[in-house]
Amino acid sequence: MKPTPRQLEQIDRQIRRILASGSYFAQVYREAGVTGCKSYDDFLEIPFSEKADLRHAYPLGIMVPPQEEIVRIHSSSGTTGMPVIIPYTAKDVSDWAEQFARCYRFAGITEKDRIQITPGYGLWTAGIGFQAGCERLGAMAIPMGPGNTEKQLQMMVDLQSTVITATSSYALLLAEEVEKRGLLPKLALKRGVIGSEMWGEKKREAIAEKLQIELFDIYGLTEIYGPGIGINCPGQRGMHIWDDFIFTEIVDPATGEPVEDGESGEIVLTTLVKEGAPLLRFRTHDLSRIIPETCPVCGSSHPMIDVVRGRSDDMFKVHGVNLFPSQVEDILAKVDGTGGEYRITIAHDDERKKDVMLLTVEAEGRVDFSQTTLAIQDTFKSMTGASAKVTVVPVGTLPRSEKKTKRVTDLREV
Ligand code: ZN
Repeated sequence: MKPTPRQLEQIDRQIRRILASGSYFAQVYREAGVTGCKSYDDFLEIPFSEKADLRHAYPLGIMVPPQEEIVRIHSSSGTTGMPVIIPYTAKDVSDWAEQFARCYRFAGITEKDRIQITPGYGLWTAGIGFQAGCERLGAMAIPMGPGNTEKQLQMMVDLQSTVITATSSYALLLAEEVEKRGLLPKLALKRGVIGSEMWGEKKREAIAEKLQIELFDIYGLTEIYGPGIGINCPGQRGMHIWDDFIFTEIVDPATGEPVEDGESGEIVLTTLVKEGAPLLRFRTHDLSRIIPETCPVCGSSHPMIDVVRGRSDDMFKVHGVNLFPSQVEDILAKVDGTGGEYRITIAHDDERKKDVMLLTVEAEGRVDFSQTTLAIQDTFKSMTGASAKVTVVPVGTLPRSEKKTKRVTDLREV
């Protein structure tokens, strides 16, 4: 996808603001000879930005306006050491709320809804984004934050929440508790807005069925406002990305070259109007593709990306084969009775001088675990060419997390 003339103008303005500010990226662009953006060729000359840049610029090196215009910061921790700080102006905060409110509207949520917010509040962008979007929409926010499942269920019943917002893992935990306690007839839930991690079809079905709700995936990352820069329409999985705020490209993760619309690659995002910390060509490491068609549901012209199916940095290599957690999910989707939760552990067998991959999978009590084990092993081998040692455990055995769940543990790194 190429930027429209209007988007090129906006990007050009961003570059001029950055260069005038003397910020970290002003130096990067000066060194790269970037002076503006009048054409797609100019755009392609803009160097990618990465999380590593934001770490180098820690704490406020990417800030563009004078500090008195900054009204808030957010931070993402990431898995390796130093956090990243993102400064927001009042307009950034407002633009984010506007985008998030649009997400709720696309999901059919109105000011009559009661939105129970379980993502965390604080430095992380999650809870506060769900809250600001809810207030902008005019719905009733129930700002629970994470944890305290007893209280979550009580509020869900007493306040008759109509929307639950959560990570997929926490939504599944709540769904399982609702089922266990037979609470479904007492609930008024209609929709779930799920953010911030990959989740497979099985998990989606389990949550939707146990809570009898329609589910929506919200997209976003702390570096680019936070969750709320896109969401899917009812009944289909592609997510619209708000192209009045964000320009989306898909590039080959290995070469950085843009791919044709429809082909898979890494999502790279450019903020068009962000003031506090504008980021151009930011590599998300999320893997997806542009869906090159007009939305059959709403007809909106906001471009659609497919469900995020993995992260380029989640890729792991076993027996010389590159694998993604999303492939494991695709395999499990083919095996009857598997519950959606799984863990992968990779270790090195020193004696036999080879890597071993251990796959622990949850399955429902109605299926034969030894047959399920064999079925997973066979499917895994035929779909990836790699072998896995499979252990099947009952649904509910693996830990549920309120935050992002780490599904792959590589003991070879230790
Ligand atoms: Zn649509």
